[in-house]
Amino acid sequence: MYSIRERIRRILRAPCPLCGLAAVGGDLCRPCESEVSFEFDARRHCHRCLYQAPSVGLERPAAPRALCEACCQRPLTYVRAIAGMHFAAPGDQLMRRFKAQGRLTDAGLFARLLWRNMQAACPVLPQLTALVPIPSSREAMLRRGLNPAGEIARELAGLSGVPLRGAWLRRTRETHSQKNLDWHARQASVWGLYEGRIPAGGGWLGLVDDVLTTGSTLEAASAALLRAGAQGVIALVAARTLAK
Ligand SMILES: [Zn+2]
Ligand SMILES: [Zn+2]
Repeated sequence: MYSIRERIRRILRAPCPLCGLAAVGGDLCRPCESEVSFEFDARRHCHRCLYQAPSVGLERPAAPRALCEACCQRPLTYVRAIAGMHFAAPGDQLMRRFKAQGRLTDAGLFARLLWRNMQAACPVLPQLTALVPIPSSREAMLRRGLNPAGEIARELAGLSGVPLRGAWLRRTRETHSQKNLDWHARQASVWGLYEGRIPAGGGWLGLVDDVLTTGSTLEAASAALLRAGAQGVIALVAARTLAK
């Protein structure tokens, strides 16, 4: 049974936001959706961070359930990431527009792509007790007027029925943009950046973010949730970049 909001969305005939062809209620048309959505391939993607090694001539598929080199070397924080779409053309336009212009209807589109892949992964996923978005910096909140991860998490909560618990994770300090930093620099800048505040019996949490690039933000936030008593963390990201 659909919620009233979902029924209204399905009645509205907004065109596909990428190509302008017929679509339903702000969603992508079929060809655009199949182009941008993230299809997990157990032989090519890291089972934890979804990294796909760049193709180097002959393709050598990884062994099933393999982790990438970086994940093998890092401490286990979140156990697995699920992504809704690739952060690559043409889908990256949608995310850039969402973050720059704050179009809230896009949050619903990202959440629906992510929810579809969560359902596909369902048999191997633990039951989540709450969705916790990565909090924005104060500077980013003032600039955008919204927290992209928070808006996606709100839509995802509506689709999945898993409650949203934004107050369970907070920032301990303000930082500058990490856009141009490599993994080591990002790791240093996010060390101790988050603090979890979880009631007893926190269970498994879905940590929501907009884009997974190096994974350092998700790792720092997951570590904070685990320190605060979470049983485990699944990273839920709207988009995954192609490289780290
Ligand atoms: Zn389209
Ligand atoms: Zn990995």
